[in-house]
Amino acid sequence: MPGRHFLFVPGPTNVPDRVQRAMVVAMEDHRSSKFPDLTLPLFQDLKKVFKSTDGQVFIFPSSGTGGWEAALTNTLSPGDKVVASRFGQFSHLWIDLAQRIGLDVQVLEEEWGTGVKPDKIEAILRADKEQKIKAVLCVQNETATGVTSDIGAVRKAMDAAGHNALLYVDGVSSIGSIDFRMDEWRVDLAVAGSQKGLMLPAGLGIVCASQRALAAYKTAQCKRVYFDFGDMIKANATGYFPYTPALPMLYGLREALKILFEEKLEHVFERHHVLASGVREAVKAWGLTPCAKGPEWYSDTVTAIVVPPGFNGADVIDAAFRRYNLSLGAGLSQVAGKVFRIGHLGDLNDLMVCGALAGAEMAMKDVGIDVTLGSGVGAAQAYFRSTIMAKEKKPTEQEAFGVLHPEGVVNA
Ligand SMILES: *Cc1c(COP(=O)(O)O)cnc(C)c1O
Repeated sequence: MPGRHFLFVPGPTNVPDRVQRAMVVAMEDHRSSKFPDLTLPLFQDLKKVFKSTDGQVFIFPSSGTGGWEAALTNTLSPGDKVVASRFGQFSHLWIDLAQRIGLDVQVLEEEWGTGVKPDKIEAILRADKEQKIKAVLCVQNETATGVTSDIGAVRKAMDAAGHNALLYVDGVSSIGSIDFRMDEWRVDLAVAGSQKGLMLPAGLGIVCASQRALAAYKTAQCKRVYFDFGDMIKANATGYFPYTPALPMLYGLREALKILFEEKLEHVFERHHVLASGVREAVKAWGLTPCAKGPEWYSDTVTAIVVPPGFNGADVIDAAFRRYNLSLGAGLSQVAGKVFRIGHLGDLNDLMVCGALAGAEMAMKDVGIDVTLGSGVGAAQAYFRSTIMAKEKKPTEQEAFGVLHPEGVVNA
């Protein structure tokens, strides 16, 4: 199909042209004296993304899943008691991984469409008088349902309970797109991946560990080899890796971080909020509802849209892909067929989102869902315009067209 493909799955996301070009490099010796010039600043700059001053960043040739495994195996021992909330496919998979490496997981089942409940965690920690619980695992942004949980509130709950469990956060689909504060929330292990907010291909699992996490490493008994923190720390100290690094990915990461810092992280978060709000306006205009049960759960990186009864979200996705060159995200597990997802993270702007909304509308119409063509796009357009106008503090249309100024001055 001619023209650009519209990639609107919540990962992998669009790789900016600049990043793609930066990755087209000849291979080089990763033991040369020049190699640390590339790698050492990467560790420092990633810390800025995690908002960590004294954390240790690890870059594994892996994906987010490897980051999960690295975070857990390096800091815990088989049989350790951990608490984790389950409310979507990604929180489920992390729990499954934790169980398979031998941890004793107390699973807090939450309704899909909601997220982590800090008060519940506080109660459990309070009841754990002997401090047997070693870890609290939270998925900040559940990509399957489009739900964001309040990690700052989880930290407050842990403090209120006076418990010293470590706090683990999956930020794979949030870090670099949604506000994340490693230091302020005293997160001990944060996991990110390359193919979501970092605008790279899949291939890197990135972990940031606090000083407390590094202390836990010293006694953690889970088996690990490839993901061992100690080997990494030793080699990374001088800018090298214990094994062959994924060189083009590191060059891509260099450029992606540059792009994020040029835009400034706070603006990146704001842009994601605006794009997400535009999508939510469209969903409302279609007469549909997000899978997220209320505004307090709304995610700024992905929206799962519930299709009306009698329809299959997979048919919408298929029509969008075959007819309109648009990739939408599938419903996973419990919500398979019940939702389709629009990923709105990474290298995106208003008009790109309007394109995806237009395609989603057409695909929904094709499968027989009663939506009015243009309704969602129109709602998003109106929202994007109003946001831009407010930001530019432009004169109102009345003022611009020469009617009365607030001070009573008539425009020329
Ligand atoms: C994508 C994703 C993962 C898994 O990452 P992979 O890179 O596919 O291994 C984990 N958690 C969340 C929240 C995700 O969105």
